[in-house]
Amino acid sequence: MSKQEMKFNTKVIHAGLEPDPTTGAIMTPIYQTSTYVQTSPGVHKGFEYSRTGNPTRAALEANLAALENAKYGLCFGSGLGAIDAVIKLLSPGDEVVSTNDLYGGTYRIFTKVFENYGIKFNFIGMQNADKIEEHITEKTKLIWVETPTNPMLNIIDIEGAAKVAKKHGVLLGVDNTFASPYLQNPIDLGADIVMHSATKYLGGHSDVVMGALMVSDDALAERLYFIQNSCGSVPGPMDSFLVLRGIKTLHLRMQGHCENGKEIAHFLQSHPKVECVYWPGFDTHPNHEIAKAQMKDFGGMMSFSLKGNKLEDAFQVVSYMKVFTLAESLGGVESLSGHPASMTHAAIPKEEREKTGVVDSLIRLSVGVEDIEDLKADLAQALAQL
Ligand SMILES: *Cc1c(COP(=O)(O)O)cnc(C)c1O
Repeated sequence: MSKQEMKFNTKVIHAGLEPDPTTGAIMTPIYQTSTYVQTSPGVHKGFEYSRTGNPTRAALEANLAALENAKYGLCFGSGLGAIDAVIKLLSPGDEVVSTNDLYGGTYRIFTKVFENYGIKFNFIGMQNADKIEEHITEKTKLIWVETPTNPMLNIIDIEGAAKVAKKHGVLLGVDNTFASPYLQNPIDLGADIVMHSATKYLGGHSDVVMGALMVSDDALAERLYFIQNSCGSVPGPMDSFLVLRGIKTLHLRMQGHCENGKEIAHFLQSHPKVECVYWPGFDTHPNHEIAKAQMKDFGGMMSFSLKGNKLEDAFQVVSYMKVFTLAESLGGVESLSGHPASMTHAAIPKEEREKTGVVDSLIRLSVGVEDIEDLKADLAQALAQL
């Protein structure tokens, strides 16, 4: 069966993976080697040096490509390493139109690193995909979309963005980290590049930092392989093994995240101390219809604000919670909480962040796959102490 014919739940376990040719080991071994024998100069078994290629990484790259219905997968040392490679496709003078409600680290590499190299970034609200077109100029080479967004869980119409990109001959890149390939496949919707922080749902166990790009265009893949090998932000074999292992349960974990996420979102929405819950599964969410059309389910990421909007109250809730742990990151099996105004979005001036909804009392949750009763009880006792 070719990897295109397999269903998603089969692909996570089998796509791109063959028993080890030398031993028959079912699980891809950790090929902890930097180099490979050549029987005479240039004669080898397909691997020369592990920056260029490593069998454990190659298995993961093939598997990741299949999960996004892409032809090629490329892994990087981190999610930001993957984004770095995408922007290195550009030249001084080129412009990028990007989502404004963006992962903080992406905003930082765009503005603090690549603006120094003469690349210009326009950060715009993309909740209405038709508006993207107004910001395209002759110099625009890339549209960069993140959906759902962090931490406001806004939804951007990928197909709509792809239409604008095609019409103007620019690339569309989608950061698919929050959704994971289980919920959403941007290449099927017309995107050229899909990016993941594999640190999050793909790895799924908060034990590895890694990034990935998936593309289907041959020439684009060639350019990205050149950058991957030339710039050298590649993950090691051990981390590649860990992500391969994590992916085998991606579908099961995502089902759990979605089920628990739905319960927690409804629990919070009916809680008297909660002001507002941001989660794309509510039919009151402004882009709920688009979420329904482009995602399989609504995931376990959400944010909520407190009545009275006091910073101290939010600090208390996150420190009173015992099952939800206060920490950066998301997408692991364990539930995490975060306070965007003081953590991920601390560098953004208060007035600026409040405009996008990141108020003082906003709390972000990455709902894990623990028992739902324990999660609800934890939130209930923390909110009761206010
Ligand atoms: C974490 C994250 C990144 C950056 O990935 P790293 O693996 O931490 O470098 C990029 N985008 C989103 C949406 C993320 O959550």
